[in-house]
Amino acid sequence: MIWTQDIQALGELSQQEPMAAHTTMAVGGMASWYFKPYDKHALGEALPLFPHDMPILPLGRGSNLLVSDLGFHGVVIDLGLIHNIHIDETKLTAEAGARMSKIAQSAANHGLSGLEFMATVPGDLGGGIAMNAGAFGQQVSDTCHEVNIIHRDGKEETLSSQQLHMTYRHTQLPSGSIVINASFTLTRDEQDAIRQRMRDMRQQRSQTQPLAMPNCGSVFKNPEGQHAAQLIEAAGLKGKRIGNAQISDTHANFIVNHGQASSQDVLALIQLVQQTVWKQFNIQLEPEVRILEAMQ
Ligand SMILES: Cc1cc2nc3c(=O)[nH]c(=O)nc-3n(C[C@H](O)[C@H](O)[C@H](O)COP(=O)(O)OP(=O)(O)OC[C@H]3O[C@@H](n4cnc5c(N)ncnc54)[C@H](O)[C@@H]3O)c2cc1C
Repeated sequence: MIWTQDIQALGELSQQEPMAAHTTMAVGGMASWYFKPYDKHALGEALPLFPHDMPILPLGRGSNLLVSDLGFHGVVIDLGLIHNIHIDETKLTAEAGARMSKIAQSAANHGLSGLEFMATVPGDLGGGIAMNAGAFGQQVSDTCHEVNIIHRDGKEETLSSQQLHMTYRHTQLPSGSIVINASFTLTRDEQDAIRQRMRDMRQQRSQTQPLAMPNCGSVFKNPEGQHAAQLIEAAGLKGKRIGNAQISDTHANFIVNHGQASSQDVLALIQLVQQTVWKQFNIQLEPEVRILEAMQ
């Protein structure tokens, strides 16, 4: 394969990479190809070199991703080496592979408020933009004003957050595009006050979420005016286990992996929850976790 030689000069390229090792749920089969570009220029050069019909999956921390046991027949693009953070006055710009917790810390160190919630979200910025991540009444779209993306042909484009139509856990990224960086406009506040808010949020998380076991955060979006966790609990499903996956008995909107769970175990629980909640309350729960079916 001629194309692999050129791409190898632009980043780390491997074959048959186990996705269980790259997702916080720790399930999923092999990715046919796995590419980690050295920087954003290398990414731009590499993208057009992959065969046109090869599906592409941008990957951050894998903290909102459920990959099929049959794997992903395409190339996973891991943005982990593209992670600079830059602050100028009240403007923070970060690259897609920057950890959100690190971004929150950097903002706090500069006395900038607006991204405290990121201290509690275990993903990277690219995933945070793609999901319009949020918590504790804050979300990415509140302060994000500009996002740079790269298209499959290697061309870059700058879009405003309005152009991306960011709503609750949803961003309308152009098909096949990859986020490379984003800028935020923040407000000034005392460093100590910002750090205290972050500590409080982290503490609340550690008391209410099953953080010691592999999971993918909230599995379902909250329906308007409702809490998915309350509906799942009211449906009698808290603690329900299929194979090695279980609806957490700490937080009913979390599914935990007891160690050897398959993606199929997790999917079976997701379907059971959807069917039971629909039957009992006539409410359709929509997954928040991105489900990557086989053969995509
Ligand atoms: C313990 C725990 C707690 C969590 N708490 C929260 C919370 O409070 N609030 C919240 O919103 N979420 C939460 N999550 C979910 C998750 O952390 C967020 O959705 C996060 O934004 C995902 O980031 P990631 O880097 O892990 O993305 P990934 O899981 O790697 O990817 C998620 C999606 O984004 C796409 N994507 C990733 N990077 C890019 C890119 N550069 N360009 C284009 N698309 C991209 C992927 O293809 C995929 O479709 C939690 C998860 C866990 C495990």
